[in-house]
Amino acid sequence: MAGIELTRIRLNQADVINGARGGRRPPTLPKLRELLKILAEVVDLNNAAAVLGWDEETYMPEGGAKARGQQLSTLERLAHIRFTSDRVGELLTDLKRELSGADPNSDAVRLIEVTAQDYTKAIRVPPDFVGKLANLTTLSHRAWIRAKKMSDFSIFRPHLEKLVEMSKQYATFFPKSDHPYDVLIDDSEPGMKTADLRAMFAALRPELVKLLGAIASRPQVENLFLHRDYDKMRQRDLGVEVITKFGFNWRRGRLDETTHPFMTSFGIGDVRIATRLVPNPGISSLFDMIHEAGHGLYQQGANPAYERTPLNESASVAMDESQALLWEYLVGHSLPFWEHFYPLCQKAFSPHLDSVTLMTFYRGLNRVEPSLIRTEADEVTYNLHVILRTELEIGLLEGKISVRDLPELWNAKMKEYLGIVPPDDARGVLQDAHWSSDQMGYFPCYTNANLISAQLWEKINQDLPDLSNRIRNGKFEELLSWLREKVYGHGRKFETQELVRMATGSGITVEPYLRYLKEKYGQIYGF
Ligand code: ZN
Repeated sequence: MAGIELTRIRLNQADVINGARGGRRPPTLPKLRELLKILAEVVDLNNAAAVLGWDEETYMPEGGAKARGQQLSTLERLAHIRFTSDRVGELLTDLKRELSGADPNSDAVRLIEVTAQDYTKAIRVPPDFVGKLANLTTLSHRAWIRAKKMSDFSIFRPHLEKLVEMSKQYATFFPKSDHPYDVLIDDSEPGMKTADLRAMFAALRPELVKLLGAIASRPQVENLFLHRDYDKMRQRDLGVEVITKFGFNWRRGRLDETTHPFMTSFGIGDVRIATRLVPNPGISSLFDMIHEAGHGLYQQGANPAYERTPLNESASVAMDESQALLWEYLVGHSLPFWEHFYPLCQKAFSPHLDSVTLMTFYRGLNRVEPSLIRTEADEVTYNLHVILRTELEIGLLEGKISVRDLPELWNAKMKEYLGIVPPDDARGVLQDAHWSSDQMGYFPCYTNANLISAQLWEKINQDLPDLSNRIRNGKFEELLSWLREKVYGHGRKFETQELVRMATGSGITVEPYLRYLKEKYGQIYGF
């Protein structure tokens, strides 16, 4: 029933004028009601598509693929038509005017702003461009698979050249940007600029390279005990125990098995985690579960008043990922966490860890070693992979780098930043699908997520000075409450930078992350 949600979007100004504190229900504007009704339907259609998508990744038999593709495309088309109608544009324009004197931080004003941003994006890109890009992406992805298999960049090169051209064209649909890359970043990190990224990387890269050098000068820590098969069902059971203690609500969520881990939600009351269960490397399935539960806790902590509106989403891709990383690394790779869970873990996987001390386990789990790909990287080297790809993307968009030179540039940067050179292009420039699936501009959100997680963590520890002790005792309630109050409950009401500033007192900066890394790895490696 749409009517229930309509009254939940409160107009702060109207509250004051009409004395809502006296117990009367705050009024809503008729046009706001109309808009909310349309938005609720769009959200319903998208959530219905998400249910089908979840089923496709978990239980659907192979034979269902064709029909499922058609069902999803129908629902997505209906949602797009409903959302991009002229009436939505008119309502947004009128409501902006009607709300011009209202509190800029009220839910209603923010809702109109967020919806207007989405609307502009949805109508500015011509449908024939969208169709052309979808076709090119399909072809590029196939070419990339072949190129990677044969480690032959020349197979992928002409497709990538076209994708770069289309990315440049895409940027022209949004003429106000300072830099063509701004438009691409904005799709995953609204408000962030290329100039912000450059400043961030300039501060981060030399420090990471220096830290990596300091670590390399010390004796390597042992992690052979992780190179064994860890029973996948026991990993699952331990994972369930861990995320239950974190506060994952099983009445409003569930866990299933899949090949690529993910989280999806269809509303605050139905949050699904899907995990991959494999016996190696190490206890990676346990960490996959913790990571996805981090995304899930964000969704479960949403504000019920925002249900069926665009505010009922995370602030951005980076903010969402920061929460997965916070639970997976800042909590799940910390010593206090293992002080609590290690005895259980030893018992679950006996005899693998019988003679491995807690400290040896903790150090081994956090071993730093340059690797060829971001997905296998540790906390210290991870962002060097992100910086490398992002610098190349910016160069491509500016026209300062040509696609032809990418393999060589990729290897040169690997050597400079990580001290290793990929043995072939399959493990170098062709290593992952971000370019072939048209995701230029997406990578920076991984670094943003790291920075945000550490910045929040520093503030949380100031606000909850006893946190390590609580974690050591398996207590996570205060941590979850803090995150709900400062992050989860705001949904998409504030842009990431604003939300981080509200929570920590400053916009996203690199210092907390560098402090965190230096302290943690200084202890592990003894410098
Ligand atoms: Zn994630």
